[in-house]
This record gives sequence, structure tokens and C-alpha cells, in this order.
Amino acid sequence: MMPTIVIYSSTGCPYCEKIKTELKEWGFTYEERNVTDNPKYFDDLHEQGMFSTPVVFIDGEAFIGYRPKKMKKALGVTVEALQTAGTSNTAAVIFEEPTQDVFNEVYDFVAIGGGPAGTSAAVYASRARLKTLIIDKSPSSGTLAITHKIANYPGVPGEVTGQELLEKMHVQAKDFGTKMIRSNVLSVDFSDEEIKKLVLPEGTIQAKSVFIAVGAKAPGSKIKGEEEFTGRGVSYCSTCDAAFFENRAVAVVGDTDEAVHEALALSKFAREVLMLVPTNKLKGEANLDELKAKDNVTIYFNHRLKEINGDKKVQTLLIRDAEKNEVTWEIDGVFLYLAGLKPGTDFLGDAVKRDTEGYVEVDETLKTSVDGVYAGGDARRTPIKQAVISAADGCIAALSADQHVNKRKQMRPQYS
Ligand SMILES: Cc1cc2nc3c(=O)[nH]c(=O)nc-3n(C[C@H](O)[C@H](O)[C@H](O)COP(=O)(O)OP(=O)(O)OC[C@H]3O[C@@H](n4cnc5c(N)ncnc54)[C@H](O)[C@@H]3O)c2cc1C
Repeated sequence: MMPTIVIYSSTGCPYCEKIKTELKEWGFTYEERNVTDNPKYFDDLHEQGMFSTPVVFIDGEAFIGYRPKKMKKALGVTVEALQTAGTSNTAAVIFEEPTQDVFNEVYDFVAIGGGPAGTSAAVYASRARLKTLIIDKSPSSGTLAITHKIANYPGVPGEVTGQELLEKMHVQAKDFGTKMIRSNVLSVDFSDEEIKKLVLPEGTIQAKSVFIAVGAKAPGSKIKGEEEFTGRGVSYCSTCDAAFFENRAVAVVGDTDEAVHEALALSKFAREVLMLVPTNKLKGEANLDELKAKDNVTIYFNHRLKEINGDKKVQTLLIRDAEKNEVTWEIDGVFLYLAGLKPGTDFLGDAVKRDTEGYVEVDETLKTSVDGVYAGGDARRTPIKQAVISAADGCIAALSADQHVNKRKQMRPQYS
């Protein structure tokens, strides 16, 4: 029997759109209750202590926030089911669950990460006739995959979503013979000169060359209380949730342009907005002028959020202030914009050289400190992070790997 699915959404909420699309792709229908359009739906959530959208009820069980993994489990969605249903979710079909045959194989080239860097590398590696594998723990969650619009990728005019662009790349790599599996590389062993080992929860992959293309979207470590209160006062999206905090006090934590933008949006709803900047300045192009002009906004530099506390919903924050004193602030909600700046390379340990921020160190051929191991895209330090740069890195890494695996004197370009 089909489950009863009700989505509480809000206008302009990107994660609401994303989860609706995915439910359709998994073959489910749902009733949508837009809290922006209908105050009754807004009150429904409020009464249940929920201050966030999307909230998806599956047969009465609430999934607060964007929780596709948990929802798929609850709905019994598997890759096989999607293939049988002929779903259009390309990533779900192209990326297979790992089976024993991938662990028996010795691959010529393995990309860790199926974003533009890993996928472009796979196109080149497969065309160079290297036996190629991409491992990605969540192909729809990389930086490009979640980019709402991309208009500057050469040869792709107009605006497409990052996911659409990436799916084209996945199909192209697959057509050239790349195999793609969905799994998480937990650790690596590069001690053997010939065969590198990548440890997944399901088994160990063997590879003659490896490309580290894991991007730089790793969240910093979670703040105490963050997980517990997500959707109950902890939020990541003002467009989705600002209305829940009308005439209330909220904190915004972050040091980027995004955090400033979100604080501005919240100032139109909240009674009071406390902006906490963990350091003494903002990152990049962020500018505080407009925010400073708002009567209901106060900006605190050098204030770090230590804990989020409450009973059923957020009530207080434990802050370390500029004088390094721990103080408690009463608050109704907290919007977090701290994640997304760190390369997700901790699983590498000391296997390759990384700099103090976790970026993998490479030479001009993108070789790391270990022969046969390459890194690129957002996982290495680049002057600017763009999809086209990651894709170009994929080309260099794959052709470097081809030279290594086939013991060529020089890199061999592909002129077709
Ligand atoms: C908000 C925003 C907007 C942007 N807009 C643009 C734009 O308009 N134009 C543009 O050119 N660029 C844009 N960018 C930048 C662009 O998205 C990135 O530079 C690019 O996606 C980086 O590619 P990547 O392959 O290195 O990493 P990602 O695209 O982040 O892919 C990394 C992949 O690795 C996987 N992975 C990570 N760790 C593991 C692991 N341990 N095991 C297995 N898999 C793992 C992840 O699941 C992910 O799929 C934008 C970025 C942001 C944040």
C-alpha cells in the first residue's frame, strides 16, 4: 500500500523543491501544504514545536529538514526499485551499490568523488582505456550538485541546475566505460607502491592510481545540540524558516556573505537578530554596511557558539565572547552558516601531505606526495573554486595517472 505523504513546504525554500523532486523520482505522490500561502499550515507546524521547512510526514512520522537518506529507508527505496520504475534520477541509477566484483578487481584509476573533478577525470581515464571507477558517497550532495543555477560553464548556455550539468557528465563518463558506485571512502592505505587501497564500509578497493576529488564542502564539526534541535530552532535557511521567527529573537552564526545575506533577510521578521562572527573579520566580499543600518541587528565579532540548549526547542546558546568568557544568551532560534569551507580530506590521515587547512598538496601534474595518487578540484588549494577548474583538474589528473599506470615517458594528450 502506498504511504500517505504530506509535505509542509514554504515558498522559495530550495530544500523543499529538492525533496519534492526526489519523491516524484522515487515514484511517490504527496499532499503539499505550503506554510507561506496558508497560515493554518504554518500554525500546524508551530503547535508541534517545528520551526522549519521542509517537514515531511510519512504515515504520520515526521522527517524534519532535508533528510533523503532516512526517508528512502522509511519508504523502502532501493536502486533496484528505481531501475525497475525507470526513474529519471540519473545519479540514482548510474551509481550502483558496491558488490563483491568491485572488490575483486584491480582498477587502473579510481576517483574518490563524483563531482566535476572526479567525473571529468573519469571521462579522460576511460577514454585512455584505463579501467576506471568513481566512488561517491552521495552524488547528489556535492557542491556542484546542490548549486541552484550555473550559467558560466562553457558550452552549456542558459541556466541549468548544477545537478543537471553533473548528470550529463555522469552519463558521458558511463558511456566511455566508467563504473560508478555509491559508497564512502573511510580510509586509505597508500603504503604499497603498486596497489593503493581504499577502505569502504563494504570492502576494500584496489587501484593502481587514485584521484582525490572530494571537494570542499565538509561541515566543520557539529556544534553540541545542533543535531538535536535541527528544525526545532536550529535552521540553515532564512527563506525557508524566517517566518517562524516573527517577533522573536534569533542568532545568525557565520562569517560569509551568505551569513550576512541571511541575517538581513531575518531582520525583516525577527524582533532581534544577533549576528555572531567567530573571528574578527568576514570572509571574501562580505560587507556589513546594510546590516549595520538595521535597528534590530547587533553584530558581535570574536564570538563563538559553543552549545545550543533547550527543552523541546532551542532556548539558550552558550557563547564564548570576545573576552573568552562563557555566557548564556536566551534565544528562540539559531541560523548556522559555518559549514562548507573545509576540504573533506580527514579520512586521508597522513597518507598524503595536506596543508594546515586540509587541502591536499600537489605539483603541477596534480601528483600528491605519493606516486600514483593525485588530487584536484576544490580539494586542493586553488585561487578560485569553479566547476570548470575542477573539470580541468580532472583532465590533468587522469592523463598524469595514464602516464604513471602505463609507464609512459610523457603525458599523452587526447586529440580525437
Ligand atoms: C553556492 C555555490 C554556488 C556555486 N556556483 C558556481 C557557479 O555558478 N559556477 C561554477 O563554475 N562553480 C560554482 N560553484 C563552485 C563549484 O560548485 C565547485 O568549485 C565544484 O563543484 C567543485 O568540484 P569538485 O568535483 O572538486 O567537488 P564537489 O562538486 O563538491 O564534488 C565532490 C564529491 O565528492 C564526494 N565525496 C566527498 N567525500 C567523499 C568520500 N570520503 N567518499 C566518497 N565520496 C566523497 C561528495 O559526495 C561529492 O559528490 C559554486 C559553489 C557554491 C558553494
